[in-house]
Amino acid sequence: MNFDALIIGGGIHGSATAYHLTNAGIKALVLEKDYVGRHASGVNAGGVRLLGRDFAEVPLSKEAMTRWQTLDQELDADTGFRRRSLINIAIDDADMSKISSRINQLAESGYDHEVLIDQQELRERLPHVAPNCVGGVVSEQDGYAIPYKATSAYRLAAERAGAIFHEGEAVQSLRQIGDNWQITTDRATYNAGILINCSGAWADKTAVLMGDNVPLSHSAPMLMITARMPHFAGPVVGAISRQLSFKQFENGTVLIGGGARVLQTATTTEQRWTTRNWRLLPRRLRPSFLS
Ligand SMILES: Cc1cc2nc3c(=O)[nH]c(=O)nc-3n(C[C@H](O)[C@H](O)[C@H](O)COP(=O)(O)OP(=O)(O)OC[C@H]3O[C@@H](n4cnc5c(N)ncnc54)[C@H](O)[C@@H]3O)c2cc1C
Repeated sequence: MNFDALIIGGGIHGSATAYHLTNAGIKALVLEKDYVGRHASGVNAGGVRLLGRDFAEVPLSKEAMTRWQTLDQELDADTGFRRRSLINIAIDDADMSKISSRINQLAESGYDHEVLIDQQELRERLPHVAPNCVGGVVSEQDGYAIPYKATSAYRLAAERAGAIFHEGEAVQSLRQIGDNWQITTDRATYNAGILINCSGAWADKTAVLMGDNVPLSHSAPMLMITARMPHFAGPVVGAISRQLSFKQFENGTVLIGGGARVLQTATTTEQRWTTRNWRLLPRRLRPSFLS
């Protein structure tokens, strides 16, 4: 079967790529070995963040943030996006001076989206913050989305435009024949002039099939979600000097992320580290962060 473009992987990247290509008149096929959104694109912290980005990422992140504001209308679907301010809390003066110097550096590049807040404003925005927290930095344009909804929204919009998705079909080999790529899966053979590697944590394996060497390491951040609880936090919250973030959804559940990142393979989980990190998460939240 012949297509203009073959996309390996049905995560957010594969689905969004299919959407944009199809709308540009390019006939695209997405091949997904499991089901769309099964992996990192279906289960993650859902952060839509401009705050704290590496300087090199800021222009792209600003462009993405503009798109997020109207993405539901564009895709005619609910991505779960909610615009919320994002605050990174400073627990001491050293954190505050880190924030100040970063804000100055951003200003030199013409950016003003990160704003310093003092202790009083922090308390007004987050009434339950621990008394020792001295201030923070806020970005008003940030927010969160529901990852599986966002990925599905792209997939459905791509399909409406004419893209084709095959789930449960793993790419097994690739060959370049002249200007074309030939893909063989466990079901069929496909040809296309354009081949796009959107295979996430497996991208190194796909690259090898293409004759390319893209070394990749994997790490797993920890996430936990609570039962529904009374509303206590409107903003998404992070911290300057510790790996911790949380957001409270409209249904009252709180998604907490943080803990040490665990190095792992794309297929295995290190149970010992996982258990230890679960215990670390609530300890990091209290007592120095929230009262
Ligand atoms: C709304 C949203 C918010 C996010 N927020 C955060 C956040 O707060 N923090 C954070 O750290 N990250 C966040 N992320 C990013 C996320 O953690 C991942 O980095 C991202 O989703 C990776 O997308 P992907 O499409 O590259 O990979 P994946 O979702 O992993 O998709 C790759 C797909 O390729 C398929 N595949 C691999 N090999 C083959 C093969 N040989 N044949 C066929 N299929 C194959 C896999 O089965 C998989 O489904 C967010 C993502 C979204 C969508």
